[in-house]
Amino acid sequence: MTIHQQLFINGTWRTPAGPGLIDVESASTQQTIGRVPEGGAADIDAAAEAAEHAFHSWSETTVEERAGWLDKIGNALEARASDIARTIAEEVGSPITMATSIQAGLPTLVTKSYAKLIRETALEETIGNSLIVREPVGVVGAITPWNYPLHQIMAKVAPALAAGCTVVLKPSELAPLNAFILAEICESIQLPAGVLNVVTGYGPVVGEAIATHPLIDMVSFTGSLRAGRRVMSLAAYTVKKVTLELGGKSANVILDDAPFEKAVGIGVKNAMLNSGQTCSAWTRMVVPRDRQEEAIGIAVKTAASLKPGDPLDPNTRLGPLISGAQRGRVEGYIESAKREGALLVTGGHRPSEFTHGYYVEPTIFANVASQMTIAQEEVFGPVLSILPYDSEEEAIAIANDTIYGLAGGVWSADADRALRVARRIRAGQVDINGGRYNPLAPFGGYKQSGIGRELGRFGLDEYLQVKSLAR
Ligand code: NAD
Repeated sequence: MTIHQQLFINGTWRTPAGPGLIDVESASTQQTIGRVPEGGAADIDAAAEAAEHAFHSWSETTVEERAGWLDKIGNALEARASDIARTIAEEVGSPITMATSIQAGLPTLVTKSYAKLIRETALEETIGNSLIVREPVGVVGAITPWNYPLHQIMAKVAPALAAGCTVVLKPSELAPLNAFILAEICESIQLPAGVLNVVTGYGPVVGEAIATHPLIDMVSFTGSLRAGRRVMSLAAYTVKKVTLELGGKSANVILDDAPFEKAVGIGVKNAMLNSGQTCSAWTRMVVPRDRQEEAIGIAVKTAASLKPGDPLDPNTRLGPLISGAQRGRVEGYIESAKREGALLVTGGHRPSEFTHGYYVEPTIFANVASQMTIAQEEVFGPVLSILPYDSEEEAIAIANDTIYGLAGGVWSADADRALRVARRIRAGQVDINGGRYNPLAPFGGYKQSGIGRELGRFGLDEYLQVKSLAR
């Protein structure tokens, strides 16, 4: 059991204002595996003051100095990769193999990518008689979720630090232990005091204190649509810059000439990654009506290969959901799909072999219509909907028929056709024929999936503002 009784503020461990601790539960054993402070508004005051004070000197450091610090953080994350992977496998329930490659691997990759990017970025240019300089936004409040917890933290912290901003971070209360590993790293490399501050606690208390704080210039939020709306409205009063990475209901559009075995197989695995607790998951598979039966066959076979198991077992491909509440929500959506007439082709239950852990079988519905709840709302569980279409136009219309627009996929034997269809999908990131993951490509949402972009140079731009100096 890991017990943290103090918060990381101003480069040191500080006793929180209140006495409360939050229990952190293992997703698979349901045992308490850690405790973290239940911070309050006074802790955000202290963290924001430290960050504001640190901003004066941090924003004056050279690009090379900041890149050097990011190299140190990246190397230290790499050195603690197995520790990070195990922590997240326990907190979130991610299978250890995937936790190692993604949950621990991505934050290192992203951190190092920003060390390189900031070295290569031109921060000044001339337009006519004006010198245009790009300066850091200021103190950034980062509010992050639990599903890819350290990746989502570093996708904010790394570009913010690279730009010259300082950060007050509030990690998810459900998976906060990995954030303490980051704080320990910052302490051990002696990152200047106040550059990164970590305050744990509940969203409506600590998160809202960030969104309203007069010393915080920008809020970068990743999480649910509901909380994102709240953060944006609270931030309006102090006119903070707000970036939001919210939910998704992404479509995987399989055209009639697509390589079906591959498109369906990869599509199912994408939807089930991290037990479906992935904002960009392709939760809607859009297939030609006359090939739906074929798609179902391949999908059911693929789902059967994703045996649920102990997240710490290297052979496990599907872990539990993070919490009882999350499983309850997912089961509610499964019931709604049945009630509204979708055809359950596999799964739908709790696997019988587990006495502990919030497991749900990989579940697939077919004959799903676009207006059904299961096709409109984010489930955040191992549940895939197959929606049949009659024409390419209808496939595109279905893909765009949600309030979200985060990600998607298009498959066709004709690469030009796939590209043409992908251009018409109103989403921030569409993979063509299973295009390889690109950590430098911008990630973010159209419509109610969010505002702004993360990763690569577009992610860096969010933390910079522009000043014109006319001469
Ligand atoms: P959540 O909205 O419940 O919590 C996210 C964070 O916001 C947590 O730190 C939480 O404490 C905080 N929070 C909650 N209420 C708040 C409030 N009133 N004011 C300020 N902060 C508040 O989301 P979650 O359950 O942790 O994560 C799942 C959601 O995140 C899903 O909807 C998923 O799609 C989304 N998500 C989006 C992306 C993306 O990049 N688009 C990535 C991962 C997750």
